[in-house]
Amino acid sequence: MNHADSPIRSMMSRRLTLPARISRWLLIGVAALLPLAIITPIVYWQESNRLRQQATLQTGQAESMLDLMLDYAAQAADSVAPLTNQPCPQIEQALRKQVTVVPFIRSVTLERGGILYCSSLFGVYHRQISSPDKPRPETELRLKSGNVLTPGRPLIIYRKQSGPTAIYIAIDGVHLQFSLDMASDYSPVYMRVGPLWIGPDHAVHPNPSPPFDLLTIERASSRHPYTLISGFNRRDLYHQMASSYELVFLSMAALGLVLAAALRWQLSRPASPTVELQRALDNGEFEPFLQPVVRSDGLGWQGAEVLMRWRHPRDGLIRPDLFIPRAEDCGMIVPMTRQMMRQLARTLGRSRLPPQFHLGINITAAHLRDDALLADCRQFLAHFPPGDLNLVLELTEREMVEPTPEACERLARLRGLGVKIAIDDFGTGHSSLVYLQQLPLDGIKIDKSFTASIGADAPSSHIVDSVAELAHKLKLEIVAEGVETEAQRAYLTRLDVGWLQGYLFARPMPLREFLLRPELDAARSAASSSGPAL
Ligand code: C2E
Ligand code: CA
Ligand code: CA
Repeated sequence: MNHADSPIRSMMSRRLTLPARISRWLLIGVAALLPLAIITPIVYWQESNRLRQQATLQTGQAESMLDLMLDYAAQAADSVAPLTNQPCPQIEQALRKQVTVVPFIRSVTLERGGILYCSSLFGVYHRQISSPDKPRPETELRLKSGNVLTPGRPLIIYRKQSGPTAIYIAIDGVHLQFSLDMASDYSPVYMRVGPLWIGPDHAVHPNPSPPFDLLTIERASSRHPYTLISGFNRRDLYHQMASSYELVFLSMAALGLVLAAALRWQLSRPASPTVELQRALDNGEFEPFLQPVVRSDGLGWQGAEVLMRWRHPRDGLIRPDLFIPRAEDCGMIVPMTRQMMRQLARTLGRSRLPPQFHLGINITAAHLRDDALLADCRQFLAHFPPGDLNLVLELTEREMVEPTPEACERLARLRGLGVKIAIDDFGTGHSSLVYLQQLPLDGIKIDKSFTASIGADAPSSHIVDSVAELAHKLKLEIVAEGVETEAQRAYLTRLDVGWLQGYLFARPMPLREFLLRPELDAARSAASSSGPAL
């Protein structure tokens, strides 16, 4: 048995096992991260929406600028178209004029049957470029990484078919680049023409499309055959989140720390005794131990006192004086006693106890004032054949009820059920004689401090004699507790004290162990010759 004051410490502070400590720290960790965990998805959602809108806006801006440029190219092609049936020398000036007056245009070239034959740059000219039979759409765009004059400088070619002649309008890549750069504010905007695309690195790339690992937005121009691509990467989003919401994240981290500190404080606060005792009650941790109460006339174990123990999951077996006073203070003693009585009744009701077995149960004053005590006792006795068990309620003198008419009536009703009433620790309070006189009683228990004084040359040693004499006169049964020596037993027997209890006979033991003890069988056989007991 653990004799330390551990239950008191367990009630006042929460010393925890390793797994409990780990889960407590985990909980505190969760509290610390909670505000950030809540705010991060919200910020993520908000910021990715903002970037999505931004990317959409950027492609819109780039589209307007590029469409404008290509509209000029289309306008130049339209101006040249009516002239294509004339020979090159007659129209080369007109081609040059287009380059001069129409914005963004770098050159105008005419092609027929796969041969470039007239250009604003070279005038009459002959260069084979493609197979003449290949069918082509009426207008077409082509992205090129350079041409004969400026290799390595991207350009975009607008091609328009006009009868047998194709008009090629070249727009300098610089303009293209400028438009894309202007639009690429938050994230880059790329232009894709056919299988090729051009981006902020000013180079023309073949497929695949530019990579965005989080979101890609594609926008096809409604006026010309090209597509704009924008979007953003996860890294860009995280970077934006960190820079735009820095303060929010810092405050949430601080809030998390405050929450964690508050939770830690709350968790390390002592559990209230009520909470701890209620937990133990729910877990069935209170169990009855029995100590034999023997007949001094040699009939052996004809009775027992029920002494509660707390089988604490961590602190082991706990003595009642370490938790009963707290249980009394917070009102838990009543449900604890009730649960123990039910447990006892179930087991003892099925056991073969000696007839007229004396079973002492400690009852507090609070329980005595509780209306349910009567029902509790009735239920308890219902598990035994009528009159077969002597249920004795031990009421400690130190906290005895006032002998009011109500208290007397309640005791009388209990006695009416066949329950006996004894005053425990008799002689240790101040009103022993008043109780004897005014309360309906069946017996008294001489406190072990008086038993211990037997044989000693102390004034208290005479109290045992006087109490025994008084009890005999009042026809009350007497139990002497704390009998530890043969001399005490002999002395008390001489005084005609009917019942003895103490370590001399046995210490309190678990209920099951008590029921298996051979002394109980011996008492059962001896009982037939015994008289009525307390
Ligand atoms: P108590 O009612 O006076 O019970 C007798 C106490 O004396 C028990 O202590 C018992 O183990 C101890 N005792 C028995 N024989 C000897 C002996 O020869 N020498 C010595 N030195 N001690 C002996 P325990 O079990 O520790 O109980 C202490 C007190 O706790 C009890 O005193 C009783 O007031 C209270 N208690 C125990 N169980 C209950 C219960 O179920 N309800 C209530 N209300 N109080 C209880
Ligand atoms: Ca007692
Ligand atoms: Ca006592």
